[in-house]
Amino acid sequence: MNRILIFVEQAENRRLLAEWLARSYEVVVGESVVQTKNAVPLLDEPFDLCILDGPALHHLWEWVQARKQVEQPVFLPFLLVTLQADVKLLTRHLWQTVDELITKPIEKLELQARVEMLLRARRLSLELQTALEQERELKQLKSRFVSMVSHEFRNPLNIISGFTRLLEQHNLPSERRTDFSQRIQTAVKSMTALLDDVLALGKVEAGTLVANATLLEIEPFCRKLVEEIKVSTGSNHTIRIDCEDECFTARINEALLRQILTNLLSNAIKYSPPKSTVWLKLQCQAEEVSFQVQDEGIGISPTDQSRLFESFYRASNVGQIPGTGLGLAIVKQVVEQAGGTISVTSQVNVGTTFTVTLPSNH
Ligand code: ATP
Ligand code: MG
Repeated sequence: MNRILIFVEQAENRRLLAEWLARSYEVVVGESVVQTKNAVPLLDEPFDLCILDGPALHHLWEWVQARKQVEQPVFLPFLLVTLQADVKLLTRHLWQTVDELITKPIEKLELQARVEMLLRARRLSLELQTALEQERELKQLKSRFVSMVSHEFRNPLNIISGFTRLLEQHNLPSERRTDFSQRIQTAVKSMTALLDDVLALGKVEAGTLVANATLLEIEPFCRKLVEEIKVSTGSNHTIRIDCEDECFTARINEALLRQILTNLLSNAIKYSPPKSTVWLKLQCQAEEVSFQVQDEGIGISPTDQSRLFESFYRASNVGQIPGTGLGLAIVKQVVEQAGGTISVTSQVNVGTTFTVTLPSNH
């Protein structure tokens, strides 16, 4: 509720104002500043509008200006109660201090209108201020993001530059040459993956990934994808596809599904021992398709589970396994943009299951 402070010397006016305004606002009435002479403690409490008359303003002049200054750039309105005859005496200087005036004898309706208008102006300026603050936070977030990404790029770049120099040595045995060039390729791969992630995040933010659903044969699509992933990760895992209904189709955005499954499957491979099994289970219900990726890997503790979907968050048990912590943040964003859900169940050193459900009409 809006809080109104009243400093009016004339007792009758003070009483009227308080009575009228108390119906719609929280009203605080100050004592006569002319009599008490000293600064009233009320002055330092928060309020949204202050109503004062000429004698009070005369005493509180400096405080009014200081208060306005402190609240800048938010608008803190002051309403002056004055005699019609005195209006023409108001100086330009005074208009820089008070924002509106009301003449005596005070009309109830006029008072309400002015009070409402001033309070609305204050609300708008508060809202504007909040919007500006949010924009500032967003800018900070962006710059944090950029600095983290560049940090992640620096490592593979250093590897590439170091090994390229080593490759220039004369009389390098061929197995060392192969080793160096493989290391370079791995570094390039990880940079490409990071770049893909970052581009994907940008696309999601721009909202370009959502539309473009086509009728997709889910099972053949998944088989192809699994083959690709096995080649690109060089994994020797067994990847099983379990499909309830052999050849179901669903209306789904292919790029989006590729992105979700690539991230989940490469995590399952990355965080589970070589030669272990990864399952991709497909299920089709009336209006949704669900995908389950299950592994026999290192698992995720309950504490880490709750933060997995935050950008750059990595669980405490990743050890030397490389990663940036962006994959799941991206997956969550695209899944939610598509109107779906994602959840995880996991047990440390036993395995992890991610379940994604996407809406689809068949
Ligand atoms: P990248 O951005 O390259 O994908 P990442 O794999 O570390 O890096 P996410 O895919 O976002 O990042 O995963 C976040 C964290 O969640 C991982 O660092 C890991 O701690 C944990 N995690 C994800 N999937 C699994 C899984 N299948 N088994 C165990 N931990 C997992
Ligand atoms: Mg990942």
